This record gives sequence, C-alpha cells and structure tokens, in this order.
Amino acid sequence: MQTKAYAAQSPTTPLAPTTIPRREVGELDVAIDILYCGVCHSDLHAARGEWPGMRYPLVPGHEIIGRVTAVGSAVSKHKVGDVVGVGCMVGSCRHCDSCHDGLEQYCEGPHGWLQTYNGWLDGSGENTFGGYSAGITVDEHFVLKISHGEADLAAVAPLLCAGVTTWSPLRHWKVGPGKKVGIVGIGGLGHMGIKLAHAMGAEVVAFTTSPAKIQDARDLGADQVVVSRNADEMAAHAKSFDFILNTVAAPHDLDAFMALLKRDGTMTMVGVPDTSHPSPNVANLIFQRRQLAGSLIGGIPETQEMLDFCAKHGITSDIEMIDMKDIEAAFERMKKSDVKYRFVIDMATI
Ligand code: NAP
Ligand code: ZN
Ligand code: ZN
Repeated sequence: MQTKAYAAQSPTTPLAPTTIPRREVGELDVAIDILYCGVCHSDLHAARGEWPGMRYPLVPGHEIIGRVTAVGSAVSKHKVGDVVGVGCMVGSCRHCDSCHDGLEQYCEGPHGWLQTYNGWLDGSGENTFGGYSAGITVDEHFVLKISHGEADLAAVAPLLCAGVTTWSPLRHWKVGPGKKVGIVGIGGLGHMGIKLAHAMGAEVVAFTTSPAKIQDARDLGADQVVVSRNADEMAAHAKSFDFILNTVAAPHDLDAFMALLKRDGTMTMVGVPDTSHPSPNVANLIFQRRQLAGSLIGGIPETQEMLDFCAKHGITSDIEMIDMKDIEAAFERMKKSDVKYRFVIDMATI
C-alpha cells in the first residue's frame, strides 16, 4: 500500500512530499490513520544526518496519534475506531530479559529495538518510516491506548516521546515528595519533565539558557527557575539536588550541574547532541559519591502507565500546531530553542 509522507532524501535536502510503502495488515497488526505527529529534536538530528547510521529516504516522526482503520485477525488490544498512540519503537525480540521486563528499548535480541523510523527491518536492510505520513501499520504490542478526550489529542502526541523519555528516568530514580529535582533545558522534553516532576510531588527547579522562558517555566510547575549562564544563581543551589534530568540537545559543561548534586545525587542525561559533552571532572563525582547516568525513551508498559497518569491528572504538552509543509521552518526555530514547547503536525494537511 502506498502512503503519503514527507521525507529527507539526504542529510542536505529539505523534507519534501513523497510516497512510501506500508505493509498489508498482518495477523497481529493495527493499521492507523495518523491524525497528529509531534516534532522531536531527534527528528531534526536524524533528518540532517547529525547522528551516524542514518539511511535515506528518511521519514521522521515518533510521536504519533491516530485512529485505527483495520486490525489483524489475532489482534486483541485494539479495535477499529480506537484512538491510539505510537512512540519511538515498533518492534523488539520480545524474548530477552529486557523485553520480559517491559523495557523493550534495551532489547538484547539480534537486532535490538526496532525504531519507528530509520529502523532495520529483520536485519534485511529495509528501512522503517515514521509518523510524518498519512498512515502506519504497527504490531499491536507497540500501539498504546489513549484515554484523553478528543479535544486534547494533538497535545497528547508529544507524550509518546517527550513524555515517556522524561517519565521513565523520573520514576526510575524515584522522584516524588521530599525530593529536590532539576530539569535542564526547557524544550519539548524539558517542559514535560517539569510538568511530570511537579505532578509527582517533587520540588522542581528549572534550568534554562533563555531568560524569556522564566515565567513559562513557573507556569509549567517549576518552584524556582535558574538562568544557567548566571554563575551566582547556579552557586546558590550547590550540593542541594537529589536528581537532575538533563535534556539539552547541545554539548555543554556538565560540571556546572554535577556540583549542584547532594551526596549520592544523580544527573541523568537524555539529550543526544551530535558531538558529546566535554568529559566531566572526576573529582566532582568522587567527593560526593555522585552519579552520572543516561536513559533511553521508555518501555511499552511504562509508556501506557505515563499516558494513563497524564489522562488522570489532565496533563498534556504545550503545543504549536503546524501544517506539514511548514516543517522546515519549524526545524529552524527548534535549532534556535524557539519552541513553545512542541510543534505538532496536523496530518490532515499532508
Ligand atoms: P528541544 O525541544 O530542542 O529542547 C532542547 C532545549 O535544550 C532547548 O529548548 C534549550 O532550552 C536547551 N538548549 C539548546 N541548545 C542549548 C545550548 N547550546 N546550551 C544549553 N542549552 C541548550 O529538544 P527536545 O526535543 O526536547 O530533545 C532534547 C534532546 O533529547 C535531543 O538531543 C533529542 O535528540 C534527545 N532525545 C533523547 C531521547 C532519549 O531517549 N534519551 C528521546 C528523545 C529526545 P533552554 O532554552 O531552556 O535553554
Ligand atoms: Zn523523540
Ligand atoms: Zn528483546
């Protein structure tokens, strides 16, 4: 089946209309008409070839909300007409320890986790294509149930990556009442990190390089906001954090943040810049037994848990809706940290 999509044909060509093949509905498959797709900074890194291993044509998009149009004969989780979500993953081995633990993103199978785009189909070399398209066919295990109301659906799309990528580490490192938590970088991921950490009951401090975002960060749920380029403001928080989540998409000095952790505190990195950060000072780790960690998106069970939590607590993303044809302008604004706080494509415009 041929489906409309927007693809980059190379790292240097802008995204443009094309058609892509989508597989026929298999026994365990769900066919989805895409309504909305969020624009993650990963889409930009990937389309521009800023990461190694990108293959073209590349159709980005892994924050997908759509409606089920057909299901395979063995599908039990979803039915025609349901509103559903698809995130960063569309497959994994389903048998390894990580898959059994519901952490499919760390799949130890021969091909690892299958990414929604730029994924390696059965090692055959065939590419997967993401959500900047009119439709997608996905194994039901990787399709999420959506219980938010119809009016919220565009603003739910970013939960499928930005939401779960911040939820997973916040839960893993046990953020909650009595914990002081920093969120670094107020973009798509960071603004969800503030909302979620606040809803979990933590004391939240937002770190931004953009003074224009101070009031927004407060409105999103931050108890305090620090302009991270201001050394005095940073010093006032020395040795006080239990946990810091760093979402910044560019290389920067990590020591400035490590010094803010208490004894045994952890800073977890989720941003994946094209070149890595300068190595942090090891003494900064040793003297307070601090930890520097990383975290990759989230598994399917925890993605569903996050979606249900957000529906219950009335949490969505703050979005700016765009037409598909305006994606390049959105990418350019994202590069300048000029996003409030996630672009979402109205797929009716493709
Ligand atoms: P985004 O919306 O562009 O937000 C990134 C924010 O980082 C910016 O808004 C800005 O916030 C801050 N920033 C940007 N350049 C900076 C610089 N030079 N110095 C300091 N701060 C800077 O991006 P996103 O979609 O949230 O994604 C963030 C990163 O996470 C990307 O690298 C993306 O690929 C990665 N990611 C990782 C995972 C994972 O599983 N680990 C999943 C999704 C995305 P302020 O204006 O507040 O400073
Ligand atoms: Zn993403
Ligand atoms: Zn596996």
